[in-house]
Amino acid sequence: MTYKTKGFKRAFSLILAVTILVAAGSVLYRQQITQWLEQDARNFLVTEGAETTTDISHVFGIQLQILTAIAVSLENQDLSNKSGLLAYLHQQNQRNSFQLTGFQFPNGQTLLSDGKTTRNLLSATDVESAYEHSHFISAPRAGLAEEEQVIILGVPVLKNRKQLGIVFAVEPIKTYEEVLGDSSLGEKGLALVINKQGDVLIAYPRPIASNIFDIAESSLFDAGKSAGQIRHDMNENVSGVSGYTYNKIHRFSSYFPLGYNDWYVMSILPTESVVAKAEHLVKMSLFLCLSVIIALVILLLFILYLQHQSAKALFHTAFVDPLTGKDNLNAFQLKFLAAVQKFKQEQRACAMVLININSFKAVNNIYGFEQGDKVLQQVGKELQTGITENELFCRGGGDVFFFLMECPSREELGRRIDALTVRAGQLCHVGKEYLPLSFTCGIYVIDEDVPFYMMMDRANLAWASAKAQAGSKVYAFYDREYLRRIVTEKRIESSMEQALKDKEFKVYLQPKYDFKTGRLVSAEALVRWQHPEQGVIPPDWFIPVFEKNGFVLKLDMYILEEVAGLLQRRREANLPVVPIGVNFSRLHLDDPDFIDMLLQVMEKHNLPHNLVEVELTESMVMDDVMRMTRVLDELHIAGFSVAMDDFGAGYSSLNVLKYLDFDCVKLDKEFLAKGEGNPRMRQIISGLVKMIKEVGSHIVAEGVETKEQAEFLRSIGCDTAQGYLYSRPLPMDDFEQKLDEDARIAAEEEPPFTF
Ligand code: C2E
Ligand code: CA
Ligand code: CA
Repeated sequence: MTYKTKGFKRAFSLILAVTILVAAGSVLYRQQITQWLEQDARNFLVTEGAETTTDISHVFGIQLQILTAIAVSLENQDLSNKSGLLAYLHQQNQRNSFQLTGFQFPNGQTLLSDGKTTRNLLSATDVESAYEHSHFISAPRAGLAEEEQVIILGVPVLKNRKQLGIVFAVEPIKTYEEVLGDSSLGEKGLALVINKQGDVLIAYPRPIASNIFDIAESSLFDAGKSAGQIRHDMNENVSGVSGYTYNKIHRFSSYFPLGYNDWYVMSILPTESVVAKAEHLVKMSLFLCLSVIIALVILLLFILYLQHQSAKALFHTAFVDPLTGKDNLNAFQLKFLAAVQKFKQEQRACAMVLININSFKAVNNIYGFEQGDKVLQQVGKELQTGITENELFCRGGGDVFFFLMECPSREELGRRIDALTVRAGQLCHVGKEYLPLSFTCGIYVIDEDVPFYMMMDRANLAWASAKAQAGSKVYAFYDREYLRRIVTEKRIESSMEQALKDKEFKVYLQPKYDFKTGRLVSAEALVRWQHPEQGVIPPDWFIPVFEKNGFVLKLDMYILEEVAGLLQRRREANLPVVPIGVNFSRLHLDDPDFIDMLLQVMEKHNLPHNLVEVELTESMVMDDVMRMTRVLDELHIAGFSVAMDDFGAGYSSLNVLKYLDFDCVKLDKEFLAKGEGNPRMRQIISGLVKMIKEVGSHIVAEGVETKEQAEFLRSIGCDTAQGYLYSRPLPMDDFEQKLDEDARIAAEEEPPFTF
């Protein structure tokens, strides 16, 4: 699974979880809200009921107070003056806005403020109650006008406890209905004034039944209340709240004693309106929640998208080569182990291959970096086509490409790489110009479980060895011997300067003998490195390294110094001396001060110049004949004798020899070895020697190991012999002894060697 689908999956499960949570939450929320609102409704009913009760009771109170005030003023009036009383009643009625104000005499005669006179408008209960309780309030009853319900309130007029009559007010029931209507129960609410028997006396906006208990009896009450309980509450003059279901509608009701008669004010509110409110609230909240969730989801998706984009960009910079658009070294390394493992499992050999474009710097220099990049792109594209499904490819940076390739055999892999590089080398164009390219490759056949960077190093070393083989080779395989050499070289290079200071380089001298006389006639100085840890190191190990890094220039001069020192010492001690050959590297030929330096050493040690023979190898001569001619002339002028070393080892040209005036020619030991048991070769050697003698050079045979060789060489006319048969190269002391001995024998005129 990729990080991308993982991210989205995570996001969606998060969204799902949030949605479930919100759904569950909203159900709970709805329940809670309903509960709260129901509680709220109960509380509301209680306050609203109490308020309505106060309002109604207040109205009754004020009306009774007004009537009481009228009654008090009537106490002192002449009640027999009917017209005066009537005018007074009329005036009071006007002032207090009753429907009617009246006065009933104890005999039942009644005067009304509208001027009418009737009998007994008040009931006996009214009158009785008035005198007993100082007031009365009647239940609604038919008014004077038709179909009009009114309530009559009255107070007695007493003078010295004498009952003078009752002053009363007639008020339409509408007045009280309006007071009930002022409550804030809303359209669905109901406010009633009832008596303890449950009879509805006043109702707003409409009566639901003539008796409340009729309803209560057939209602289903919420826990903790019942019709009986309400009845009981009312008998006890207590207020209360109840919830009940009637006609499938649930309602709340509160009841408060009014304080007049046995009346109660009851407020009723259907729960339905509360629930509707809750539902609305829940809906609103849910909508809000959903909006927030949707916004969050959009935000989340946007963040994921940005994350994905930046991860993609990061991946690109980390694992894609910007030039070729293919894997870079990081990606290559990541896939490498698994790929190698697969090859192993299938028991197929594989190799890490490094391919480098030759002289790519020149392409950059000539065409510029932009074109150089295009060339790299073309090459990368072409090289990439050369791999199979299980193999890997990347650009390692610069003009270096890496592969992991199958290696059925070195030959087969070599052929593939040849074909690949030839094809890639032929396809490149800069603009319209054809640009042939060549490559050098290093191959490490994976034969060991070493870290990736070591494999890279090994491919690199193999590449360096291919490169060192002078461009003729397209590829080279890594081998341990090569690595060992490199390590030795590095070790040699790091310690050579110090070794020279510490005089670790020792001069060995190999004597040369005259074939005819058998006398020690000269010697060759050969360097040895007396290493404190490794013992004696032969020159073949370090001279090539010093030739590469130029240190041989110093070393040769050091050897010359040592040789000159020896000669000087012996001369000054009057001991016998012989000319000593010193090897000089080809690098000296480029040094304009070469001969001056030689001369300086000779002067310093006060030596005749012919005591040092300059040995130059045959290959140096063939490098640049003109230059060699010049150097030879200069050396001759300076008085040195010059030997051509290793003659016959390379491409000898006898013609060249004719033009070059070497004092001595040293026949190469390998060349002589070829003559062993080979008559034809012997003939060639014999012919050569003759010819060399004709141009007047002295001939030294090197590497003479057997008497047979010696006999042959002497027979064909060689002058001098050098080889293990006579002596190995000797430390200076040993050589001096040998020289002294030779001189002693010569004095006795007995040559040491005769053939
Ligand atoms: P070279 O100048 O051809 O020296 C002769 C080499 O042949 C010496 O090897 C010597 O030990 C070896 N040799 C002599 N007789 C025999 C023999 O009978 N049989 C065999 N198999 N070998 C024999 P060495 O000393 O190892 O030197 C190798 C090469 O190192 C020399 O070859 C020379 O080219 C170079 N070299 C030695 N010393 C110096 C030096 O001071 N300066 C420079 N530039 N090169 C030096
Ligand atoms: Ca030599
Ligand atoms: Ca030689």
